[in-house]
Amino acid sequence: MNIVLLGAPGAGKGTQALRIEEHYKLKHISTGDIFRHHMRQQTEVGNLARYYIKKGQLVPDEVTLKIVSLALEEVNYSDFLLDGFPRNINQAEKLDEIVKIDKVIDIAVDHAVLTDRICGRRSCVECGYTTHISMLENASVCPRCGCDMYQRMDDMEETVKSRLEVYAAQTAPLIDYYEKKGVLVRVDGMGTPEEVFAEIRKVLG
Ligand code: AMP
Repeated sequence: MNIVLLGAPGAGKGTQALRIEEHYKLKHISTGDIFRHHMRQQTEVGNLARYYIKKGQLVPDEVTLKIVSLALEEVNYSDFLLDGFPRNINQAEKLDEIVKIDKVIDIAVDHAVLTDRICGRRSCVECGYTTHISMLENASVCPRCGCDMYQRMDDMEETVKSRLEVYAAQTAPLIDYYEKKGVLVRVDGMGTPEEVFAEIRKVLG
């Protein structure tokens, strides 16, 4: 089963991706995680990505498509969960040329809550676990693996506005794109992570 996870920044894609990956034994491909890895390693791709990510803009398609092609090759083009890709129609069309997507899950969240969710988000440097700061007993320790939690540079308030604008202009049209292809399912992302995952299990069967 090949799945794409859609949703605005802060909709809970990363949180649900970890659950889906584990439950359905799918290989999780997060373009954001790949870029962050490159940034930590200070590779050429990482230095280029940093320039766009800091501003809340999309990394150019040419670069993004290359890293996704490599990631898909590594998983033999099957049984994967794409998280954060595609992010515009051009990326979706290119993806369609390489693989067949069985289901696209759109996590729908009220836009009024997104800014608070993103600005309060803390992420683990090591295992990718993310949660809201209000849920952490110790704001700098990951409750899952004990490593350091940090705030992503693009989760700061000044960048969030532009990420949400980019989402509305470039990514939201994908909902229509996949609906027309008959592969879109929508889940309500306003509940707890457990409730949202229960809905996802229902639509995936
Ligand atoms: P994410 O972790 O998915 O929120 O991604 C963090 C940032 O990485 C985004 O705001 C973009 O700057 C960049 N990025 C991630 N995925 C893509 C993509 N498919 N196309 C272009 N840029 C991306």
